[in-house]
Amino acid sequence: DPLMQDQGEKVLQTLLEHGFQAFFVGGCVRDELMARPVHDMDIATSAKPDDVIGLFEHTVPTGIQHGTVTVLMGGVAFEVTTFRKESQYADHRRPTSVEFVDAVTEDLQRRDFTMNAIARDIDGHLTDPFCGQADIERGVIRCVGVAEERFEEDALRMVRAIRFASVFGFRPVKSLWKALMHGKNKLSYIAIERIRIELEKTILGPKPLRGLALLERSGLLKHAKVSLPQYENSEGFLHAQKVLLSALDQLPATPEALRWSLLFQTLGVPGDEVASYMKSWTFPNATAQETAAIVRFDEAWSRAKSEMDAVGKSDNGEELLRREWIKLEILFGKSVAALWLTRQGLSISKLDCNEGRQKEQNLLRRAQIWHDEVRVHTLSELAVNGGEVQQMKGRKGGPWLGELMKELLLATAYGDVQNEKQALLDRANTVVKETWDQA
Ligand code: ATP
Ligand code: MG
Repeated sequence: DPLMQDQGEKVLQTLLEHGFQAFFVGGCVRDELMARPVHDMDIATSAKPDDVIGLFEHTVPTGIQHGTVTVLMGGVAFEVTTFRKESQYADHRRPTSVEFVDAVTEDLQRRDFTMNAIARDIDGHLTDPFCGQADIERGVIRCVGVAEERFEEDALRMVRAIRFASVFGFRPVKSLWKALMHGKNKLSYIAIERIRIELEKTILGPKPLRGLALLERSGLLKHAKVSLPQYENSEGFLHAQKVLLSALDQLPATPEALRWSLLFQTLGVPGDEVASYMKSWTFPNATAQETAAIVRFDEAWSRAKSEMDAVGKSDNGEELLRREWIKLEILFGKSVAALWLTRQGLSISKLDCNEGRQKEQNLLRRAQIWHDEVRVHTLSELAVNGGEVQQMKGRKGGPWLGELMKELLLATAYGDVQNEKQALLDRANTVVKETWDQA
């Protein structure tokens, strides 16, 4: 983003003009070196937070206690952090207090991995005391300093190591992996929310399966305060689920619920438990609900299909299945049905048994057509409302009305009746009469 780049250079320039040192640091320098898109630029400076606040017109004291001030320049936000070192870590977590230092190399030393410990000045010169650039070229994740000590200080770094290995397709060096296996139990000290944020970056990144493989191999998440469901070992992990899971890398990363629903389902979390599960992992409620809905849709649709199979293939088997699909569309809503279709299209292509794949593909194609054809999903889309039906029936309101309206909605969605006022009133008066006039 050239705009961000320009504005960032203005921030550096201002600091330099006032006699301070200033560098781009961390993720943005790493991503530039890897020719990856840069989404935000962090700045490290010798200026103290008060100096930074005094130098710029628009600032927000976002993390003063850690030396961080957000500077807004030309509509772009930059986190400007005073060079610091982190000396005391309590309980294997981020330090509560920091100490400001004079040199950028000291600041780089507190950072987690060599590739995240590179600074770039305004002319493009790199300060790279831990050979992060070489590690990027080798494709390895390496701690700054002694891995055991760095994980001991802040146990979250173990999850971050797996996150970066997954997102970049990098390999943790042996010493890092050894330290991780040795220190993994310390993850229990880390707030679930911080772990969840790293897991989101792993699962929503370009190579989620790699992250999952590393998480499984390490057993790291077993030590989190809230555990994830674990497939015990590779044998116990059903082949079919593995096949399904292999679609994860190809699924779009947004909406998030697509990937999470596939993951939780293959881990064996039932649809009814997904939402509370995700909330215990501090996922936002909306994500949790959407994820749960996709899993529940999948379960309901599988049930419907196997009931049909049990009944046997009658002449109108296909029509019955179509009606089941439409019922589910209305129950779960159009968007959940659409998400399921997206998800399923990719998972099916992974089925290895040719015959099964053919069958599933045919069914999916029909479901897609049914989906495209459903015209109404909610009562508000009907050409008649409850009041009009009630008036026509000449009866007092009650539960009968809601149920009758639901039947009208279904009949319209099935295509049994036109979505026109008179046609719907006629329908309310006749076909469903027997059921509803007895009450
Ligand atoms: P992203 O592209 O996901 O933002 P990032 O490298 O910028 O990746 P952040 O979590 O934004 O990651 O952190 C910014 C920088 O702060 C990192 O590059 C690293 O130098 C440092 N850092 C972040 N978390 C830690 C940690 N737990 N321990 C040590 N250094 C850290
Ligand atoms: Mg960042």
